[in-house]
Amino acid sequence: MSTKYIFVTGGVVSGLGKGITAASLGRLLKTRGLKVASQKLDPYINVDPGTMSPLQHGEVFVTDDGTETDLDLGHYERFIDENLNKYSNLTTGKVYWNVLHKERQGAYLGQTVQIIPHITNEIKSYIYNLAKSTEADVVITEIGGTTGDIESQPFLEAIRQVGLEQGLENCCYIHVVLVPYISGSDEYKSKPAQHSCKELQGMGIIPNVIVLRADGSVGADIKRKISMFCNVRPDCVIENLTMPSLYECPLMLDAAGLTNVVVRQLHLETPPSDLTEWKELISRIATRSKNCTIALVGKYVKLHDAYLSVMESLYHAGFENESKVDIRWVDSENLQDQQRCSEELADVDGIIIPGGFGDRGIEGMIQAARYARENRIPCFGICLGMQIMVMEFARDVLGYADANSSEFTPDGQHNVIALMPDQQGNIPKGGTMRLGKYPCTITPSTHMAACYGKTEIDERHRHRYEFNNDFREEMQQKGLVIAGTSPDGRLVEAVELPDREFHIGVQFHPEFKSRPNHAHPLFKGFIAAALNYQCERLHHEHTTMHESI
Ligand code: GLN
Repeated sequence: MSTKYIFVTGGVVSGLGKGITAASLGRLLKTRGLKVASQKLDPYINVDPGTMSPLQHGEVFVTDDGTETDLDLGHYERFIDENLNKYSNLTTGKVYWNVLHKERQGAYLGQTVQIIPHITNEIKSYIYNLAKSTEADVVITEIGGTTGDIESQPFLEAIRQVGLEQGLENCCYIHVVLVPYISGSDEYKSKPAQHSCKELQGMGIIPNVIVLRADGSVGADIKRKISMFCNVRPDCVIENLTMPSLYECPLMLDAAGLTNVVVRQLHLETPPSDLTEWKELISRIATRSKNCTIALVGKYVKLHDAYLSVMESLYHAGFENESKVDIRWVDSENLQDQQRCSEELADVDGIIIPGGFGDRGIEGMIQAARYARENRIPCFGICLGMQIMVMEFARDVLGYADANSSEFTPDGQHNVIALMPDQQGNIPKGGTMRLGKYPCTITPSTHMAACYGKTEIDERHRHRYEFNNDFREEMQQKGLVIAGTSPDGRLVEAVELPDREFHIGVQFHPEFKSRPNHAHPLFKGFIAAALNYQCERLHHEHTTMHESI
């Protein structure tokens, strides 16, 4: 069977949940036995999102092969559970970067280099290379931004050409639009959807399916109107309603007929969807009876998207521990001392310190790690969070008050986190980190080993600095356990405290591998420890209350 191509564009406004529509559709096609690959084409000029501020653009999602991608790609992996690769994310910057490199190498043999065909060919090469590298039956391509944006035009032209090259019977164009509700007149409005479709048709793309984003059902009249004015079959106007949990979207879209019309458009013969596993997930989500509160201590907490995968991983771990997880967003800049920590953290069940860059807010994170260690609160450090736990231990237990990371104090005396000797020198910002999948050997009989249930794992990385081996022996003598290393033993990948159920720091990012129906073992262990700690805390509060009566 030749590969089929699905394109998802957006209209009217951005932030419509195109990514969730594309990811849900991917899962639905997978439940019909198809092999699905997905990608996002982003029209902005940055070469990749790696250097963009998390406060502006949310988290950077990292794939196994070390590509730094848009956060929507995280939704694809979580929903579809297929690993993405370097063809999964393309920006205008990367397209021009590649084309200009080829031009300098003389690859265009003296031709004038132009948007059509050179830029559009480069874009198409990513679509076709994804198909080839994954041997997918169906490639789903989401175009970032909104139809009508100046910068998205070459991408729309490229996907139009794919239709021509592959045959329209092998392509499905899905346009996701907002249907606004006007409260004064108590009605939904179809006009913005019509205008946006017209814009797309003006680019030569005739949508096959229109997905309507609305909070409530827009009603049969509006759907009929959109079908008629936008020239799509009535059953191809699909409502995508706001759901209590994102993970309900696949079931909602399937019930609305999305899978059927897409499969029909692509002339695919498939068995019916097998949604058993996904339905079990939704019922697990619905029947959670416990509650816990986890403090997320970071510097980008004003934009929750900056920690999207961490947030989702905590929820996934809740699904498997029958618990709702409330995240308390704690700005580390507000944690000046232990007094402030006790005001903000005394009643939480666990503390997570995720990744980050730059020195703002570092001291507050160290205060939080100390508060967790001294009060025996389950604590999970990820990447920068692990580095913070190591710095805190060195300051308080080893007695080096100036213990730090050479990221923040390049000339410090006790940089327990540092560049490896072969990394020294001037490093530019873009594309110079330890990125992607690396193996790790877990030390037997550690809490880490108990969580994973095995000792050989691989996890994804995104950092420059490492645990400084000059301090390794001293730390171990004082009780810090090296819970995981690179297979050659050289790089410390995880640390923990032995006498706690969960005080673990990892140099990698486990959050990229958690799935809603398969929580990451470390997150699962962390939430289990938080629930145990909660029981102890409540029991303790209860007995002290009785004693004081
Ligand atoms: N800034 C740290 C480093 O580069 C940690 C990075 C991170 O948390 N992703 O090593």
